Amino acid sequence: MTAKRRTADVVVVGGGCMGASIAWHLARRGTRVVLLEGTHLAAGATGHSGALVRRHYEHPVGLDLALESERFFERFRSHTRYDAGFVRVGFTAGARRADIPALRRLLRLQRAHGVRAELVSASELGHLERGMRIDDLAAGAYDRSAGYADPVATTLAFAAAAQDEGVEVREHDEVSRIVLRDDNAIGVHTRHGSIQADNVVVAAGNWTPRLLATAKVRLPIRFVRGAVAMFRRPPDFGPPPRLHFDFYNNTYSRPDGLRDTLVGYMSTDLRTAQIRPVPFNGTLPESTALDLRARLAARFPGFARAQVRGGWAGLYDVTPDHYPILGPCGPRGLVVAAGFSGHGFKLCPAVGRLIADALLHNRRDPLLAALAASRFARHRQIRPVAPFPARGDRLP
Ligand SMILES: Cc1cc2nc3c(=O)[nH]c(=O)nc-3n(C[C@H](O)[C@H](O)[C@H](O)COP(=O)(O)OP(=O)(O)OC[C@H]3O[C@@H](n4cnc5c(N)ncnc54)[C@H](O)[C@@H]3O)c2cc1C
Repeated sequence: MTAKRRTADVVVVGGGCMGASIAWHLARRGTRVVLLEGTHLAAGATGHSGALVRRHYEHPVGLDLALESERFFERFRSHTRYDAGFVRVGFTAGARRADIPALRRLLRLQRAHGVRAELVSASELGHLERGMRIDDLAAGAYDRSAGYADPVATTLAFAAAAQDEGVEVREHDEVSRIVLRDDNAIGVHTRHGSIQADNVVVAAGNWTPRLLATAKVRLPIRFVRGAVAMFRRPPDFGPPPRLHFDFYNNTYSRPDGLRDTLVGYMSTDLRTAQIRPVPFNGTLPESTALDLRARLAARFPGFARAQVRGGWAGLYDVTPDHYPILGPCGPRGLVVAAGFSGHGFKLCPAVGRLIADALLHNRRDPLLAALAASRFARHRQIRPVAPFPARGDRLP
């Protein structure tokens, strides 16, 4: 058995998609990294993720992050030598007549940022999505590049690629506190002892605020319960819907493998948010699964006969503007990647790159500047440039 390292250039806390991506991006640039996971890789929100990979964002920051990440997913294997299970199925969303001006503005913004999403008529939408009810719709958006990945495979792939680059990945090694000296973060303390490091990156998902409290850092993150259910389509269903957002019935959906469809609620209501992530029940009540099915069937009537295969609940770590908090935070040497507000999975490749850049080049990347924790105190929250429809929060 090889001895565990007691020192590192960077300790990354959290073995979700973020921590694993950050560890790999750092290591391939020659950094000595230890990745610490309290239970097992992808045990947190990552394992609960619907893993939709789409670029339908309403602000340049979201578009840039999503575009970079989606390109990475397309070539995941050639970057890492491992498979993330990315499947390209395309993305559709319908728009009612009153929302067409908002959709046009949004698609203009997206195209200006390199996302080739198209405006399609309601009947074209009906051709793209066989079996879809379009009688209340006047138009729609279609982006052929969107898809979904396997969130567990993605995390394990990043972790394996990181190990290939020399990262020590430790599971079942929970960090109890961040070690400080003279207002510098100089390492972490775990059940198995301390590790000294020049930098500590906290990517501990819903547990981030608790760990940051040990360094007297507070972030404006709240927790919202999210639910996902899986349905087996009837054999005569026909071609499965693509990755689909139904803003009017508050659902997102995507195929899962050959015969199933995964469905979740789209909006997070911050009014129901909790300050702490616990207690939390990860099971899905049957009534929630049936409600999701009814909403899906309102758009795709064939789902009325779909079989419930199961489901689960997870927690979203939500910030006031629904954008993550990235970069240096609190004592010198401490870096955070948290508050993904239900968008994190699809963004993990770009976030890994950004955090590595922040640590290695000390660069003020405009994305990092926009996503700094200080934006909330400075009233520089991110607001949608082209909201569509012009209401509510959007996930995932
Ligand atoms: C129901 C649901 C559906 C979602 N669907 C989508 C989607 O379709 N598309 C999308 O882009 N995003 C989606 N998301 C959001 C996405 O899953 C998250 O934003 C993303 O997975 C966050 O990854 P993470 O690595 O930051 O956190 P996590 O995956 O939570 O990882 C944090 C890890 O840190 C570990 N940890 C915690 N404390 C410690 C400690 N003290 N020491 C060591 N380790 C510790 C945990 O065990 C955990 O493994 C969804 C989320 C939910 C809940």
